[in-house]
Amino acid sequence: MPRGARIRWRRAGPRVSQNDPRDVDHGVEMLGRWSVRRVTALAAVLGLALGLAALAALTIWGAGASRAMTDRVRGFNEAGAHWNLVFVHLNEEDAALREFLATGGSPPRREPLQRVIGSANVDLEWLKRHGDQVEISHVDMLTVGYADYTRVLTLILESPEKSDELSDYGALALLEIGPLRDQVVANVERKQRELAQYLVAVDRDSRTLRWVTGGVVTVDLLLCVVSMAFLVANQQRAEREAFSSRHQALHDALTGLANRQLLADRIGSAIQEAGRTEHLVGLLLVDLDRFKAVNDTLGHQCGDLLLQQVAQRLVRSVRETDTVARLGGDEFAVLLPDLDASENLSRIAGEIRRAVQQPVELNGLMVDFGASIGASVYPDDSATGEELLRHADVAMYVAKRGGLGVNTYDRDSDAYDPRTLSMLSELRHGIERGELVLYYQPKASAFDRSVLGVEALVRWYHPSRGMLAPQDFLPIAERGELIEQLTDAVLQTAIRQAGHWVAAGTRLPVSVNVAARSVLDSTFPSRVAQLLEIYDVPPDLLTVELTESVIAADPQLAAKALQEVRALGVHVSIDDFGAGYSSMAFLRDIPVDEVKIDRGFVTTMRTDERNHLLVKAMVVLARNLMLTVVAEGVEDELTLETLRGLGCQVVQGYYIGEPMPPGDLGRWLDGQSSVAATR
Ligand code: C2E
Ligand code: MG
Ligand code: MG
Repeated sequence: MPRGARIRWRRAGPRVSQNDPRDVDHGVEMLGRWSVRRVTALAAVLGLALGLAALAALTIWGAGASRAMTDRVRGFNEAGAHWNLVFVHLNEEDAALREFLATGGSPPRREPLQRVIGSANVDLEWLKRHGDQVEISHVDMLTVGYADYTRVLTLILESPEKSDELSDYGALALLEIGPLRDQVVANVERKQRELAQYLVAVDRDSRTLRWVTGGVVTVDLLLCVVSMAFLVANQQRAEREAFSSRHQALHDALTGLANRQLLADRIGSAIQEAGRTEHLVGLLLVDLDRFKAVNDTLGHQCGDLLLQQVAQRLVRSVRETDTVARLGGDEFAVLLPDLDASENLSRIAGEIRRAVQQPVELNGLMVDFGASIGASVYPDDSATGEELLRHADVAMYVAKRGGLGVNTYDRDSDAYDPRTLSMLSELRHGIERGELVLYYQPKASAFDRSVLGVEALVRWYHPSRGMLAPQDFLPIAERGELIEQLTDAVLQTAIRQAGHWVAAGTRLPVSVNVAARSVLDSTFPSRVAQLLEIYDVPPDLLTVELTESVIAADPQLAAKALQEVRALGVHVSIDDFGAGYSSMAFLRDIPVDEVKIDRGFVTTMRTDERNHLLVKAMVVLARNLMLTVVAEGVEDELTLETLRGLGCQVVQGYYIGEPMPPGDLGRWLDGQSSVAATR
């Protein structure tokens, strides 16, 4: 089977489909959790901001309040001081008056009295200017009395020395000073009282402020703690999520193994390290055999279980420093970063293979499966990480195709080594230059050997190597796009040839071998139809021969393509029938007209009883299914007779006629007694 057509199991992703309601529920739940977290975090931050704003407001307000308090207290003190000064001035006036009166109003004592008369007015005016309503009314009350008193003092000064007038006014002044003094003392006391009351109120307010500030600070601290807790939790969650998404990006969801990307990274590091330590780096590519059958018959769940078991077995079979990866489907890789010698790798691969392919119990059934392992070594056979991976892949492909179990990379089996690359390029040019030619081998009736048709078999007239058989170049072409070009060239040549024969009056059916990749190309049926039309060939003169690899590659697509081909009127034949593994399924699923029993059974059926029985069974099977049976590889009369006895209708082989160029075939046909015009 061509590498490109190998079965790829596609269910590598998560098992729940995108439209699964569980996904929606999960999404809603996630969204709910996410919004609760977000709202709580926002509330904490908002609360903290509000708390801090409140604290700032309190601080500003506190600073303003304390400045106002200081101003108020200073106001009380200044007012008190001025009232005290009024008291002092009154006393000075009283003292000066008394001395003046004591001397009977002698002129020397006049001047001191004159100096102090009205001295309290300055303070009273200050009090009036700076006081509130209450203060002003008290000042006004005192000012009236004080004005009388100072007027009396002025009259005293104007009175003659030792006169009665002087004594009368003196007595009046001494009478007036007492109430004035009492009034001033009352005001001083009032001021002290007011100050005391104010201080009590301030004290009460500042206690309240302390409590409020304490409360706000406590709430702020709590919110700080909550916000910090959220921040830390968020940080941890973000780290966890980052770790998990990094892990997801580099690991396979089903098995938890490294994925292709991580493997590539590890290969890169291993190669760098190997440069320093002079160790070798080994890479094994493990591909399961018969995994598809498990998946198809037991279901994907069992397939998943099998893959998980294989993953565990692989991990258990290697050292901790080795990397086990799943590259997709049923393909795994094991990277051995520090090998001592390359021959160890085959031994390790063999051990791993034995460990991996132990039967597994799935749904109560013991399931048997195999593993093919390809190995490559840096720097022995690969110079870069990419090469290491590609070479292990090539080696695995060879192991699988040849049923080798384990295979170490060998340049000769690599389609992409320089020699093969140049061969591919030569073939491409060869096809373009028309170096491919078709030989035609007759298919004849087993009963009268009349020719029923021919099979077109490709040959390459290589400019320097001479004629090459299909096996010399087909395997290389089949690995790349070139096989489609080749199929096109062969189909065109064969149909054109059939057209020539028709034009010459011979309806000779032609069978063409078609590679899996070409059949599975969606344009194949239309290309066939187009060629038949161009060369004016009735569709029933064309048979396409396919091997089971077509079906194995993609059964549904193959069935669809072949149905379309048959709808054109073209016949479909299964080539090398019996040589593959799924012939029965093939017959059930694919619309065919003919089976060609593989020549491996036919050439030896005379001598090998088992092959004889198998051919017999295949003939019976095909006939019961109303299919034409062709036996290929008929090399002698006895085989032909035996086949005839078994009921096989058509034979092909060297005994009937070897593959030959069209010119030779014409002469050969002329020599035959009869050419059947129809099937
Ligand atoms: P096949 O389709 O099974 O073709 C029959 C092969 O058996 C041919 O080999 C033929 O020469 C050989 N053969 C015929 N009679 C006898 C016999 O009596 N004894 C023995 N031992 N061999 C006999 P050939 O031509 O080398 O082709 C080999 C295979 O290459 C073909 O097997 C077919 O699968 C493939 N092939 C040939 N031509 C084409 C082509 O144009 N396109 C594709 N895709 N494959 C082709
Ligand atoms: Mg064939
Ligand atoms: Mg064949």
